[in-house]
Amino acid sequence: MPADLRDFIRDRIRRDLDGGSAGVVTRFPPEPNGYLHVGHSKSICLNFGVAQEFGGKTYLRYDDTNPEKESEEFVESIQRDVAWLGFDWEGPTFASDYFDELYGFAEQLIERGKAYVCSLTADEIRKTRGTLTEPGTPSPYRDRGIAENLDLFRRMRAGEFADGEHVLRARIDMASPNVNMRDPVLYRIRHATHHRTGDDWCIYPMYDFTHCICDALEGITHSLCTLEFEDHRPLYDWVLDNIAVNFHPPQIEFSRLEVEYVVMSKRLFAALVDGGHVTGWDDPRMPTLAGMRRRGYTPAAIRELCRRIGVTKSENRIEYELLEFCVRRDLERAPRGMAVLDPLRVVLTNFQPDAETLTAAWHPQHPDLGVREMTFSEVLYIDRDDFMETPPPKYRRLTPGGMVRLRYGYIIICDEVVKDASGAIVELRCRYVPESKSGSDTSGLKPKGVIHWVDAETARPASIHLYERLFTEANPNSANYLDVLNPDSLRAMEGWVEPAVVASDQRAFQFERLGYFVKDAVDYAPARPVFNRTVALRDSYKPKVP
Ligand code: ATP
Ligand code: MG
Repeated sequence: MPADLRDFIRDRIRRDLDGGSAGVVTRFPPEPNGYLHVGHSKSICLNFGVAQEFGGKTYLRYDDTNPEKESEEFVESIQRDVAWLGFDWEGPTFASDYFDELYGFAEQLIERGKAYVCSLTADEIRKTRGTLTEPGTPSPYRDRGIAENLDLFRRMRAGEFADGEHVLRARIDMASPNVNMRDPVLYRIRHATHHRTGDDWCIYPMYDFTHCICDALEGITHSLCTLEFEDHRPLYDWVLDNIAVNFHPPQIEFSRLEVEYVVMSKRLFAALVDGGHVTGWDDPRMPTLAGMRRRGYTPAAIRELCRRIGVTKSENRIEYELLEFCVRRDLERAPRGMAVLDPLRVVLTNFQPDAETLTAAWHPQHPDLGVREMTFSEVLYIDRDDFMETPPPKYRRLTPGGMVRLRYGYIIICDEVVKDASGAIVELRCRYVPESKSGSDTSGLKPKGVIHWVDAETARPASIHLYERLFTEANPNSANYLDVLNPDSLRAMEGWVEPAVVASDQRAFQFERLGYFVKDAVDYAPARPVFNRTVALRDSYKPKVP
């Protein structure tokens, strides 16, 4: 990553270092309640990026305080995805590593008269919290004595009460204009098995209490989070100001990455997976990192995306085309191959059994990728799109009586269109021009078009998946996203691929004229090739940011 990135966070870090701070320690703090998505990559590239640039370190810290929603599967997937993006972490650490310390700090708040056990129901707490315009009403339990609070809190921990019977609340200000400061809940009772601490605990700390303390204990110098936590910052500071901890990180907020035609939340993805709307967290249509990897996105493309969007406080949805632009740029280097998605048989009536094998470079600009051979025989497949019986003006591909060049091969001329009883075209009978071989063409013919093709005798059948947007709305949200799912987001074709592509150990290819494709990481087998289209070849999109 270039060291000259500039944004308000990096400027702030430079100032802090110039002012004598000792170093940079950041953290990436996901909750293990789902797979990471491309939005997270903004936070990952920022937290790991600044630590790299300023010689610091970054903790991967799991914020695992909701046992019912969290699991080892998610813990593992998150490490896989962060490593795949190309980053090394300190740890990993877990909020649950600090459950003892957190509990100790909660008792400290009670002893200082700064927290109390409240026995209102969750509903009553919500109703007495007030609104943006009206202050809240103090809980009748707000003035419980310290000894009683300590006793009740210890008994909460000991498992004497059912879920919801009591909570521990901070004693701050029920009239605060900031609703988050109206005696927020710090601990709740949950008789649930935790994926790491098992049944050791039946009380679990809330995010706002946990996060700032973990940051302080790990010596995080810059706690970078997204804008929705701005209103929580006073609480972050209040907790650290009211316990005996000698380090107080600053919380700094930046805007989330949002993308058009995409929702960006683990919770919503969980509903897509659980509802069977996609095949799993790694469905190639999902904007999860696992899905994008399977789709053929590269770590470099995602890092490039994050570099281009930068880090600001302004909220906006970026265009989906920017993702495609970034991955296309990176895949430009991929070897080229040929595939036919919708085959039309071409029979060469003048074919000589001893026609030569053809040789083609894997990439015209990258000779280091080498060459491959392809066979040429009597029956070929071309894409149905590349032939028209009554072509519009300026049509440059094959027509009755017309000619076209087969990429890397010969010129063919269409003599006859064979149809079945229903009138559908089943075969073209063509002649090839033996002196027109690519690279040594002496035919003097100048066909207008070049099309891709495969040799029917040696081509390998392959499932080829083409994708469209998962949602039809530019701004899907949590309320409507299931209603605006695109029913045509996956088109599965049974096509043909040149055999050298299947034999190659490369995974990503440009299929000429069709786009960039990747061998499917899950379902691909040489005997049963499956390709996913990462992105179509080109469009007119120009990014606004260089
Ligand atoms: P989700 O709703 O998808 O679960 P989250 O914000 O609850 O998202 P966390 O697991 O808590 O997810 O996120 C870990 C870190 O990633 C947090 O610091 C969070 O601010 C950041 N993050 C999450 N989504 C985005 C996004 N779209 N853009 C930038 N950062 C994000
Ligand atoms: Mg969350």
